[in-house]
Parts: sequence; C-alpha cells; structure tokens
Amino acid sequence: MTSVGINWDKARQLFEAEKASFASRMQKSKALSQETAKHLMFGVPLHWMNDWSTPFSLFVSHAKGARFTDVDGHDYVDFCLGDTGAMFGHAPEPVAKALIAQAEKGFTTMLPSEDAAWVGAELARRFGLPFWQFAMTATDANRFAIRWARAATGRSKILIFNGCYHGTVDDVFVDLIDGVPTQRDSLLGQVYDLTQFTKVVEFNDLAALEEALSAGDVACVLAEPAMTNIGMVLPKDGYWQKAQNIIKKYGSLLLIDETHTISTGPGGYTKAYGLQPDMLVVGKPVGGGVPCAVYGFSQALANQAEAAKRNAPTGHSGIGTTLTANMLAMSAMRANLEFVMTDAAYEYMFTLATRLEKGLNQAIKNHNLPWCVTQIGARTEFQFTDTPPKNGSEADKILIPELEHIIHLYLLNRGLLITPFHNMILVCPDTTEHDVDRLTQTFEECISAIC
Ligand code: PMP
Repeated sequence: MTSVGINWDKARQLFEAEKASFASRMQKSKALSQETAKHLMFGVPLHWMNDWSTPFSLFVSHAKGARFTDVDGHDYVDFCLGDTGAMFGHAPEPVAKALIAQAEKGFTTMLPSEDAAWVGAELARRFGLPFWQFAMTATDANRFAIRWARAATGRSKILIFNGCYHGTVDDVFVDLIDGVPTQRDSLLGQVYDLTQFTKVVEFNDLAALEEALSAGDVACVLAEPAMTNIGMVLPKDGYWQKAQNIIKKYGSLLLIDETHTISTGPGGYTKAYGLQPDMLVVGKPVGGGVPCAVYGFSQALANQAEAAKRNAPTGHSGIGTTLTANMLAMSAMRANLEFVMTDAAYEYMFTLATRLEKGLNQAIKNHNLPWCVTQIGARTEFQFTDTPPKNGSEADKILIPELEHIIHLYLLNRGLLITPFHNMILVCPDTTEHDVDRLTQTFEECISAIC
C-alpha cells in the first residue's frame, strides 16, 4: 500500500474508532438496515448503496437545499448532492411547486404536454444544438444516442476513453489493460464480447485517437469533455480542438456527455469552451433531481437520424421507454431550467467552489501531503497525487478506496457528506461559506489525525 504521506497504522485505528462511533449513534438506521434486509437484496434498494464507508446504510429522513437529516435526527451538510442528481440543492422550491401543480394535472400519458416546446427551445438556446429528445436517465440517453449514431452513420463501432463511466450502458465497459482493450471483469451477466464493437484509447492522446479512428468504422466518440469518474482528468490545452478535427476527418460523430461537467456552466463545458459536438447528453440534475435526461442533435445529424428512422421498417426502434418525457418530468425540467439552473446560481457556486479549492489546497500544503485538488466549475475533487493525472490509467493508479473510506467516514460522523467512490465535492446555491469552511477545517483535522 502506497503511503501518500499517511501513517497507515494511525489511519486504520481511526477508521475502527469512526465505525464504532457511527454504529453507536445510528440506532434507527441500524434497525432499518436489519428490517430492510429481510426483503431487499443486500439490505438496500440498489446494491451499490452498500458501498459507502459506513458499516451499515445511513437512512435519510428528509433533504432540503444543501442539507439533509438522517432517521436518527442528525443533520448534515450535503456535498455529495446525490452524486450530481441534486446538484442545485435538494427539492428546489420552484421544482417542488411545479411538481405539486402538475400532480393535480396528471403524471404520464405517452403524449406531449405544453412544457415540451418551452423545454426544447431552452435546451437549444443553452447548448447550441437545435434538436432534442428525452430519456429517464443519463444511462438511457447515452444508450439511445449511441443507437442513433450507429443508425445515422451505418457504422458499428464506438470509441471511448480508458477509465470512463457513462452509466450502465453495456458498450462502454471496456478498459485498456497493458494497452489491450479488455472487457471489464466486474460486469455481471455479459454474454457477448464487448471489445468487438468498442474501441478504447487513453484520454489526451491524439495519436492514439487518430490511429483508432483511421479505419473509418467508428460511429461516434463518446466522451466526457473532462473525465470525472476515475477521479478528475482535465484535457490538455488545445486537446479538444485537435481531437474534434481528427474525429471530423474520419467521419465519426462526437457525442459529449455533460452529465457531470454541467458543473462548468449553464451550457456545460461545451458552451464554456466552444466545443462543437454532434450530440450532447445531460442527465442527473436536469430535472432538479426528478428522473429525466436530455440529448441533443446537430441539424445535420438530426436530418440523418430522422432519415434512418423513416427508411427503417415500421416497428420497434430500440429507442425510448414508456415513461420517457412524462408530464411530471417535463414540468420539473421546465421549472429547473427556468428558475434553478440559472446563470446567477452558477456564479455563486463558482465562488464557493473556488473557496473550497483554496481551503483544501491550504490544508494539504500545511501537512506537506503529495495530493492535489482539481476544480471543474462547481465541482471539486482532491486526489492522492501531487501531479494531476493525464489519462485514465494514471488516474486509476492513484485511487485508494481504503483512504477514501477513512476520510469520508470521518467527515460523515461530523455532519459532512461527500461523494462516495471518489473524492468529489459539490456545492449548491444553498451551501454557505460557513459550510465550506467547516468542510475544509474538518478535512484538515482528519489529515492531522492520520499523518
Ligand atoms: N454519464 C456520466 C458522465 C455519469 O457520471 C453518469 C453517472 N455517474 C452517467 C452518465 C449515468 O447516470 P445515471 O446513473 O443517472 O443513468
């Protein structure tokens, strides 16, 4: 185990003490865990709810703005914010009001409601792509976007970057292991070889991208503009400009997944940095925490995609789900885009995230730790390296789940929640400077205790 400036004996002792403290204070969560385990596999509604740092699941009573309360009555400042689903705070007032109003008028009909035109126009204004479709999750939006891309181009392959995550889309679970594309071992129930149709290269490597696209068989490159799911990996200066030229040169489409990088600004990284994708996906926070996702098309691709559908035999397209674009979700998106996900909200969040980045960096410096902090707009992450990773392989090497668990549980036991599975921290319009300072101080206390 790498030391990364840590005294592991102290760290492990601290973890045991923190687990004991959690267990003794969370009597109701403990009882609920036991009760829930009688009928829910793994004792939770979704198996990965068990993968947090806590000895058993923390059950939530209620959440509002930047805060939530657990069933034992402890209050938290939430810097996880549902891993982006609640990026603009829990249950934002305008969204809650819109849902209540819509609830009197029906939930789902498989027909469009009046909100459709407004939402479409707003998405086009924000992201610069003229045509849109909807899904219930970012996973589905990516899956459907890939299908449209294949249908429109007539090409079978896609290209992804090593270490990416785009939801539970089958096609993307391919890693580069010692330079060889390899299906991810952890994938359950996969019965055909995903490497047949998925190419994978390292992020920030233009030569590898060109080589992989040069056969002219790749329908689309699916990418986060900055990687966020293996720790953060930022693009090198000028990377996307050159990458986009290469993608165009070989007739592939660029599908940008802004589900996390929407933290960069109201129009995502795409608008902020002038990218020109053929397709763009945003899920998670687009409906203020209500399940929905959107994906956009350039004019040229929309024409090709519509032609592909028209020219296909009538019947199932493999795109869409029954509840997609239901009236409740559309009303949530409209209220969220109009009143919550605003320029002003972003401005405020940027200031707080910068304060957080400075505070974390100072704490790291005070303890001479070989760690770094990366910020993408309202999203901040500390990483266990002093050299920010340039690609997925480098980022993967510096993940230390045990250390993450220790720090996360220490923070949680002091009323501060950050995102599990890596070290991502989000601020929302309801987070205060005081909340941020509390987080950086408590983070520093934690590292003092384990150095
Ligand atoms: N795209 C990205 C970039 C993501 O980070 C995630 C989830 N972390 C998804 C897509 C999938 O989102 P969901 O699980 O809501 O479908």
